[in-house]
Amino acid sequence: STPAVMLSAMAAAARGGVLFKSSAALDALARVNTIAFDKTGTLTQARMTVARVVADDEAGALALAAGLESHSEHPIARAVVAAAQAQSVSFVPVRNAQAVPGLGITATLEGGESVWAGNLRLMTREGASLTPVQDAALRELNAQGSSSVIVGMGNRVVAVMGVSDTLRPGIAEAIAGLRTAGVAHQVMLTGDKMEVAQAVAHELGLTEYRAELLPEDKLRIMGELPGPLAMVGDGVNDAPALARADLGIAVASGTDVAIESADVVLMQNDLGKLAGAVRLAKDARRTVI
Ligand code: ADP
Ligand code: MG
Repeated sequence: STPAVMLSAMAAAARGGVLFKSSAALDALARVNTIAFDKTGTLTQARMTVARVVADDEAGALALAAGLESHSEHPIARAVVAAAQAQSVSFVPVRNAQAVPGLGITATLEGGESVWAGNLRLMTREGASLTPVQDAALRELNAQGSSSVIVGMGNRVVAVMGVSDTLRPGIAEAIAGLRTAGVAHQVMLTGDKMEVAQAVAHELGLTEYRAELLPEDKLRIMGELPGPLAMVGDGVNDAPALARADLGIAVASGTDVAIESADVVLMQNDLGKLAGAVRLAKDARRTVI
């Protein structure tokens, strides 16, 4: 049975918004040496906004993108849907919508044409390429550290959209606090572009980061980082890594599958609460041993 001191530590953590699913999870947090963070939706806010649309027909492009993205749970998808709603653009209906984790989403129009929204990898997979104007727009967005979405129909790129994202408040302090609490290594893992990752890492004082990762890359990296290892994530793409890590931590604003795969849930999406939980866990462990 679980020692009373661990139960009371779990209760105290829960009052602070850190929900441990088991006493084993509390014990694991006390021993964690490395924490890996997903970027989008974890270090950054789940609320992104579409800041720029580069297309011949902007409203048409937004209508198509929103039709696709209304079938996705990704923070980028929510931003696209919100932008279309804000401009009262009605969504293009799509069929067979399929999320491609780490890449984007694909579907077909009523007439059978394939349509898609996602990153360069997805574009390449769809056999499409950028016009010089679109290429220049994408480079400019990358240079600014903005995330982007490419929207296409068959092998034609219809639009390039810039999506702006803001860090969750207090995130740099949260990471510094974990260091103080004795977690030696902090690493950012992201499916986003290298330039975007660099900008965010720099802002947070994170010296270790890996970018342009597919879900299977995140999973593989779980086995390469010095353990015991905790992974913090929000997305469908993070679920395998959350399950594989010694300790999976999900933000409550994340997808259901991330929350189910995790051992700990941050109820207020506040990573600032983690350092305190590490201290509680260490104290409880010391008392039990
Ligand atoms: P992160 O690891 O930073 O949370 P993800 O692995 O969720 O990022 O996504 C990786 C990349 O895949 C995103 O940066 C984006 O380019 C693309 N992507 C994933 N899902 C979507 C989507 N629904 N719409 C557009 N792009 C997407
Ligand atoms: Mg994410």
